[in-house]
Amino acid sequence: MPFQDFIGQEQIIKLLKISLAENTLSHALLFTGPAGSGKETLAFLLAQAVNCREENPPCGECLSCRKTMSLNHPDVRLLTREGTGIRISQIRALEQESLSQPYEGRKKVVIIRDAEDMSLAAANSFLKTLEEPPPYMIFVLLSGRPQALLPTIKSRCRIFPFQPVPEKLITAYLVKKKALLPAEARIFAALSRGKVGLAVALSEGEEFFALRERAYSFIKGLRKLAKKEIFPLAEKLAQEEESALFLDLCLEILRDLFLYRETGKEDYVTNIDYLEFYQNDRYWQQQRILGAISLLVKAKEDLGASVNPKLAFGAMLLEFKEVI
Ligand SMILES: [Zn+2]
Repeated sequence: MPFQDFIGQEQIIKLLKISLAENTLSHALLFTGPAGSGKETLAFLLAQAVNCREENPPCGECLSCRKTMSLNHPDVRLLTREGTGIRISQIRALEQESLSQPYEGRKKVVIIRDAEDMSLAAANSFLKTLEEPPPYMIFVLLSGRPQALLPTIKSRCRIFPFQPVPEKLITAYLVKKKALLPAEARIFAALSRGKVGLAVALSEGEEFFALRERAYSFIKGLRKLAKKEIFPLAEKLAQEEESALFLDLCLEILRDLFLYRETGKEDYVTNIDYLEFYQNDRYWQQQRILGAISLLVKAKEDLGASVNPKLAFGAMLLEFKEVI
C-alpha cells in the first residue's frame, strides 16, 4: 500500500518522505509506541519505499514491493526474539549479513521487533554495528518500551514517537476498509484508544459482540449482587478467555454512563445501542460509577500482574459489595 493509505502519524510520514526524496534517510531509525500503533506496518512501508523504483514509492504493486510485504525480499529482514529475547548469535549473524552488498535492491533493511528485548550482550554487539554501518544498511528498531533500550543505542537512532490516532480517523478507516457500520466501527475505535492495529484486530474477533453483551449484563446486574453470589460470579468471570478485554468493555460502558450523565449528549456515548439504559437507569450515580471504575482498573492491573483471575475478580466484587 502507498503511504497515503496508512492511517495517522502524518508528521512522521512527512519527515520520512522528505528524507527519501532528498536521500537523507538516517541509517538507524527508532519507532516508539504501544502495540497496535502501526510501527511495524510503517517500517515495512519504508522498506518497500527504499527499494521501489516506481515514481511514487512505495507503489505496493511492483515485484520488489510485493516481495517485501510477503517477507520474501532477500534484502529485507525482520528480526524477532528467539525464546526469551534477541540473542547475541542473532546480532552476529546480522553483522555478517551487513558485510555483503544488497542482492536486488538499493538498500538492505533490517526491522527489529521489540528491540528492547535484546540481551545486554546482544545490545552491546549491535552498538558496534550501529557505529559504522555500511552505507546501504538501514536499521528500523521498533519498541513499545524505549526506556528499556540502552541509551547509547537510542542516541544513535533518529527517534519517531508514534501518536494515538484520532478516533474519527479510525472509525472512518474501519467503515471504508472493513465495511463496518459506523456505530460498530466507533465502538472498536474507542476501545483501541488510538491504535489502528488493535481496532482492526478487535473488529475481526468473532466473539466480540457476545462478550460486550456479557459486559453489559454484568454492569446491569451489579446492583442486585448478593454476597453469596460473589464467588460463583468471580469463578464464572475468571473463565472468560479475554478477561482483560471484558474489563475494558465494562469500563467503556461505565465511561458512557458517566459522560452521558454529565453532559446529556449522545455524542459522547460509544455504545449507542445501550442509550436507553443510560437514560433510564437510576442506580448508577456518578460517585458509584467512579468507584466501580477504580475497582475495574485495579482488577485489570491484577490480571496484568498475573494474579489468579478468580482472586482478582473475587476481590473486585467483594469490595464493590462492601464499599459501593
Ligand atoms: Zn513498488
